Amino acid sequence: MTTFQEFGLADPITRALKEENYTTPTPIQAQTIPIAITGKDVIGIAQTGTGKTASFALPILHRLLEHRVKPQPKTCRVLVLSPTRELSGQILDSFNAYGRHMNLSSALAIGGVPMGRQVRSLMQGVDVLVATPGRLLDLVQGNALKLNMVEFLVLDEADRMLDMGFINDIRKVVAKLPIKRQTLFFSATMPKDIADLAEHMLKDPARVAVTPVSSTVERITQKILLVDHSAKPSILSQILKTEQVNRALVFTRTKHGADKVVKNLERAGIPAAAIHGNKSQNHRERTLAMFRSGEVRTLVATDIAARGIDVDGVTHVVNFDLPNVPETYVHRIGRTARAGAEGIAISLCAGEEMAYLRDIEKLIRVALPKEDRRTPGKNDVGPPPSQNRGGQRNGRPAQHAHRQDGGPGNKNSRNRRRGPGGNGGSSHQNRDHARGDSPRHENARLENTKHENVRHENARHESKPRPAQQGGAGAKEGSMQGVAFLHRPSRPNSNPSNPNRNQRQR
Ligand code: AMP
Repeated sequence: MTTFQEFGLADPITRALKEENYTTPTPIQAQTIPIAITGKDVIGIAQTGTGKTASFALPILHRLLEHRVKPQPKTCRVLVLSPTRELSGQILDSFNAYGRHMNLSSALAIGGVPMGRQVRSLMQGVDVLVATPGRLLDLVQGNALKLNMVEFLVLDEADRMLDMGFINDIRKVVAKLPIKRQTLFFSATMPKDIADLAEHMLKDPARVAVTPVSSTVERITQKILLVDHSAKPSILSQILKTEQVNRALVFTRTKHGADKVVKNLERAGIPAAAIHGNKSQNHRERTLAMFRSGEVRTLVATDIAARGIDVDGVTHVVNFDLPNVPETYVHRIGRTARAGAEGIAISLCAGEEMAYLRDIEKLIRVALPKEDRRTPGKNDVGPPPSQNRGGQRNGRPAQHAHRQDGGPGNKNSRNRRRGPGGNGGSSHQNRDHARGDSPRHENARLENTKHENVRHENARHESKPRPAQQGGAGAKEGSMQGVAFLHRPSRPNSNPSNPNRNQRQR
């Protein structure tokens, strides 16, 4: 299948996909959707970043539309189990985005936040519930939720569930589900325990698989330069002058930062242009055309503005600032090494960004090669990273202030953002969830989270970076779980009057 039309998805879904700018199904979508739409169980081997969320969400939404019924109180028709709060929030956002024209009701049940709102949001029943297993069981035990009406079960990132000690909880959940249901089961790897679990949960499943995403990243030579904050501009100029640059994409965290970098480069005799949310669409298109044609070889961009950039021949990606969302690092460096080419990714890391670097290495499970360019004895660090981390409101971390380069409100980030109070949070657009439920507030407002926390503690030890191999990321098959190769945009509220989040945010 090469287009979404061929799947025969219901009109409200295809409209939403158009608005999402999805034109071509990814391999996992092409394999999964035609099978899942028939009601068959599917076991899929695919990582995050392959488009697997849509591969299960779209056929499920289609089937919900085929058989529209009002969910009964305290029940859900679709249950999605995911290992982390962040992923759960992202999955919910995806369902809401793809289902924006079908009057979908949805809820999120994750640990680390008070249960009250979640209990209330389930009162009337929902079409789609996305949950972490521990909180789900808490809700069931507290009589806030019954699982006897579940028609569709999705288990996402099963291998991570296993790593995080959720398997028993999952078995308990499955035991409460109706036998007659459709189950879609996804895992990045298929060790024996997972295969056993799948055997126990699925009925005569179809098997689909896509190759791991690590191969693109493996072709990129990555390097971290440890630098003094104030030396970044001169080191950037030096890199662009000494490296054999065909086209370079330089990333900054802020719009203001992008403009400043361009000025500095021009002062150093290096022609450059900036593209970010403050530039008009026309200006951005002109700038991109110049970059594509080679008229300008250095393009300085913020993450959101760079979203639409798909230019072959980018030999270098330079992270002038390290991103505060670790997945963003992978999206950024994936701009080079396109179409089978090699690529170089150089990241400038000042003292205040070391925590970001740690997050990135943890995500990609690789200890990146580092070169120390700091001046000995000089303690030159920039403003504390929290000032750049997506904003605080009234002295509190802003749950929805997730944009990195300003622009229209971006309510629902799908990304993990390192924030001042913790490891980022998941947010969601469900009507019943308001500010203050962010996992960032977990220490202050713990309720019923004891076993969730134990699991998260386990998860923290889950992925230790491995040393990078010579000349590349060093990531071998299976070691890049969680790394996305499709760009993962933050989702704004899927308000139908502003339906296209991708376009709105550039
Ligand atoms: P996932 O693996 O589901 O987390 O998806 C990764 C990213 O790819 C998300 O930002 C999706 O919005 C995006 N995406 C998924 N499918 C497509 C598609 N067919 N075309 C373009 N983007 C997609």
